Amino acid sequence: MAKAKRNNKYRMALQWTVFGLLVLMLIRPLFDRSYIADIEAYCPFGGIQAFGSYLASNTLACTMTTSQIGMGLALIAGIFLFSKLFCSHICPIGTFTEWLGRLGRKYKMNFVVTGIADRLLRVLKYGLLFVTVFYTVTDSELFCRIFDPYYAVFSGFGHDVVPLYAGLALLLVIPGSFFVRQLWCKYLCPLSAASNIFTYGIVFLGLIGLYAVLVLVFGLAISWVWLLAALSIAGMLLETTRLGSRLLPLVKVTRNADTCTSCRICDKACPMAIRISDQPRVDHIDCHLCGDCVAKCPEPDTLNYNRRNMKWLPATATILLIAIGITFAAVTDIPTISLKWGDEQQMAKAAVYQQSGLKNVKCYGSSMSFATHMESLPGVLGVETFVSGHSVKVYYDPEVLDDNAIREAIFTPVSRIFAAPETRTESVAVAEFLIDQFFDPLDSRMLTMRFGQTPGIYAMETRFGEPVHAVVYFDPRRIDAGRIKSLIEEKKTKWEVDGKQNEARTNFRVAGFTEKQAVPLAQYLSLVYEPIAMDFNSTATTPSDSADTLLLPFAAAAEPELADMPWYLLSHISNNPGVTKFEVVPGADGFSLRLCYLPKVTDRDEIMEQLNAPQLKVHMSDGTEQMVDNPFRF
Ligand code: SF4
Ligand code: SF4
Repeated sequence: MAKAKRNNKYRMALQWTVFGLLVLMLIRPLFDRSYIADIEAYCPFGGIQAFGSYLASNTLACTMTTSQIGMGLALIAGIFLFSKLFCSHICPIGTFTEWLGRLGRKYKMNFVVTGIADRLLRVLKYGLLFVTVFYTVTDSELFCRIFDPYYAVFSGFGHDVVPLYAGLALLLVIPGSFFVRQLWCKYLCPLSAASNIFTYGIVFLGLIGLYAVLVLVFGLAISWVWLLAALSIAGMLLETTRLGSRLLPLVKVTRNADTCTSCRICDKACPMAIRISDQPRVDHIDCHLCGDCVAKCPEPDTLNYNRRNMKWLPATATILLIAIGITFAAVTDIPTISLKWGDEQQMAKAAVYQQSGLKNVKCYGSSMSFATHMESLPGVLGVETFVSGHSVKVYYDPEVLDDNAIREAIFTPVSRIFAAPETRTESVAVAEFLIDQFFDPLDSRMLTMRFGQTPGIYAMETRFGEPVHAVVYFDPRRIDAGRIKSLIEEKKTKWEVDGKQNEARTNFRVAGFTEKQAVPLAQYLSLVYEPIAMDFNSTATTPSDSADTLLLPFAAAAEPELADMPWYLLSHISNNPGVTKFEVVPGADGFSLRLCYLPKVTDRDEIMEQLNAPQLKVHMSDGTEQMVDNPFRF
């Protein structure tokens, strides 16, 4: 009896390499806290959807870049030539479910669905493909993230994942693949559905061509949704009725009937349960050119690719296609959004301002926020963003604006308080730093986090300049300007969220700094804190000489973590019809609370009782009332 040859070492090497890279990506944050794993960096399905989104609405979905698009286009080219090599050699879900299936077969518990049930189940993945692409293009967010088992597991059920859908998908896929042969690939995977549509190349290109002619030549306003529906229905009908594709891919497994002994080892080796042993050529739509049948066939020169003995071909083609995809990504840059609101004449004369390093421009949503901000600036005519390099292009009318005005508009000034001045502080030291490599709100966030963790720094304000100006207020008894400079130039910011340590790298450079004259405490408080004062309860009709004043120390008003609470106290006190004014006053000893009241209506004891109430009755901006714990004691 013929003995099967060894496993397909080429494919296994690639599968284990991908597996190893994923494990490396997962464990790297343990020793490099600033590393953020991009688990979709080379996802071809994300790339195909992003490219579709780009063609339909001139925007890229979500965080997609040319890396994914390059892989998506390489995948399509690969399907035309060599079949679904991504599925057989790269896809982590494909590999994992195949290994589960092998385990099921070992225990004789893995079954092949056949007949009408098999045909009907194949419809599911086309439904999922339609819904996934539709919502991705309309929302510019990768819809498949809500249920994708791979994304759910590797992102640790990240914020885009809907736990119910992803949990159901995992429950279905993990035990399902153990019992049912290639359940995910055959029946559920939307990328498998898209790949099969590409495999029916003539129908695919025919529908695309027809749509292009109707829209571009005849000028018909046909939504891309109809094209998506036509492609999904055509793929579904072709797959469920024919289960094969004669023309594509160009490379297929071929069998030499003269040397074949009908041992059926190839049939048993096929992960997709295709019957190979009685066909001259494998045209089955499920064949993803894994090469397992070719590797296992014991008869020399019997199973080949296009009758040529090239066992290395699928793995080599996969590596070549990945290289082509990466090269495409390196030499092209497709904007995440490209919005032009200037007319043709204005655009013809437009100047372009380019800036990179805007880490806040990191996805479709943040790109749209940036565009909205820019649109509000008179003279700006359009915006393009490129999230892969965090860069932007701003088109503007040079007669209205110049580069400097755009740079200033891009910059977001920040004013942040980190700590209240300590008791008996008479004055606060001030230094102004000129910081290079400091562009956007994310940079401000990194620096404010670092300052917030450093005792002695009270507040920071930034304003536009080249370099950016940062004014820092601090306690000279605890820290000096030299130490603050070193702090700004530190390479890492570390912080903790829910017990998890995070880290980010920065590259700020202090081009120079000036120590200014210290400011008295009262002046510092009025410079940095928002004034809080309000008249109420008909002061206009109340003679001022009929009101008394109550002045109380209010140091807690300087605590940054209580920033909103004085406003809540104000709202609470306004419930007393005898109180006519509430004011937080900066002074040499810190903040005081000054209240004006009508002794005929209320008295000091009543006000003190109200100020020390355990809960504040607050009138919210939406017209409702809420009880809020009172953190103050007077
Ligand atoms: S091609 Fe023929 S000889 Fe080769 S494994 Fe299949 S049945 Fe056996
Ligand atoms: S027919 Fe051969 S190449 Fe195609 S999927 Fe089955 S084992 Fe792989």
